[in-house]
Amino acid sequence: MTEDTETGAAETDGGVVEHRRLIVAGTGIAGLTAAIYAARSNNDPLVFEGDEPGGQLTLTTEVDNYPGFPEGISGPELITDMKSQAKRFGAETKNGVIASVDDATRPFRVELTNGDVYTADAVIAASGASARTLGIPGEDELMGYGLSTCATCDGAFFRGEDIVVIGGGDAAMEEANFLTKFADTVYLIHRREEFRAEDYWIDRVQEKVDAGEIEIMRNTEALELHGTPEDGVDHVTLARHPDGHPKEKLDDPEFADEVEVFDFDAGAVFYAIGHTPNTEYLQGTGVEMDDEGYLQTAGGFDGGQTATAVPGIFGAGDVVDYHYQQAITAGGMGCKAAIDADDYLESEVGAESQASEPAAAESDD
Ligand SMILES: Cc1cc2nc3c(=O)[nH]c(=O)nc-3n(C[C@H](O)[C@H](O)[C@H](O)COP(=O)(O)OP(=O)(O)OC[C@H]3O[C@@H](n4cnc5c(N)ncnc54)[C@H](O)[C@@H]3O)c2cc1C
Repeated sequence: MTEDTETGAAETDGGVVEHRRLIVAGTGIAGLTAAIYAARSNNDPLVFEGDEPGGQLTLTTEVDNYPGFPEGISGPELITDMKSQAKRFGAETKNGVIASVDDATRPFRVELTNGDVYTADAVIAASGASARTLGIPGEDELMGYGLSTCATCDGAFFRGEDIVVIGGGDAAMEEANFLTKFADTVYLIHRREEFRAEDYWIDRVQEKVDAGEIEIMRNTEALELHGTPEDGVDHVTLARHPDGHPKEKLDDPEFADEVEVFDFDAGAVFYAIGHTPNTEYLQGTGVEMDDEGYLQTAGGFDGGQTATAVPGIFGAGDVVDYHYQQAITAGGMGCKAAIDADDYLESEVGAESQASEPAAAESDD
């Protein structure tokens, strides 16, 4: 064994820090649910936190639709409780971002971005999908405080408010349509003249426009969000140009004077500009993905609903499910992935893991 001085982790002879029966990517609700089930099945899960420990729920203040909490619960509290629950059964969580998984060998070689290598008999990918953001001022301070990326989750907090929805595809249309249940008026802001959405959604939105529930602001982009975490969103600075893409025109001396910049009062802002699944570390493996990078599970593959095309690698939560993207559904898939992984480990690996000697790596507990 050698001591890795930089990370403090001990290495076995092959440069492998540690072998585990099961490695889970992600401490969001899918990864933690998988960890609870896997630990209770004696599969000794090691769960890597990734760049966003606790996942997307740590970005929100109130979770009102997760069953079992009649008064609601804060996202971070729910995650902290789940982590404690997983640890009670012996699951281990660790800081670390998985850079790659090598599926050419068994056990799998799992390499972190800091160069540490672990091996695992099975891997659950529960690495979520990150909502795309605009990167404008005000965004970081107001995320979860009037700015949201999930209408189903947070729409009900803004009854009677004027709500801005930003985007031009199906998701934006669907979110705008849904938010009319709560909003005084929904303002759908799109940076171009034409929408990318399907006709079905354009027609639904047009019905709401005719009813006075949605107002469309074309060729318009948000430049800055204003408000405070205490009082939420107050107003948004917008830019408009008749030919679209006003933000880039604002930076172009030829067009800058033609861009109209103005403040617009709003009680909440919803981004609906898509999600990016966190699947880069699985590129180059046999795991199948759709065009956007979402993992493809089950459909035609053996080994349970969460099995990927690579036996022993399973997918759970928003990294698979681009449609529902809810805490309860992600948690449900985490449970399924742990059960599927247990079936795989029992039948393909046996009760005892082909473990190398576990290293005395420090956990982050
Ligand atoms: C603002 C907001 C509010 C929301 N409110 C609600 C709500 O009220 N109710 C509800 O049901 N849902 C809500 N949601 C949706 C819910 O948060 C998600 O559906 C859920 O978190 C998905 O869980 P997940 O575990 O699949 O992924 P995530 O929560 O995205 O977690 C992914 C995890 O994987 C890790 N990871 C990523 N890449 C790697 C890697 N390479 N190596 C290791 N780890 C990695 C990340 O660090 C993270 O820990 C909300 C979402 C947002 C953004």
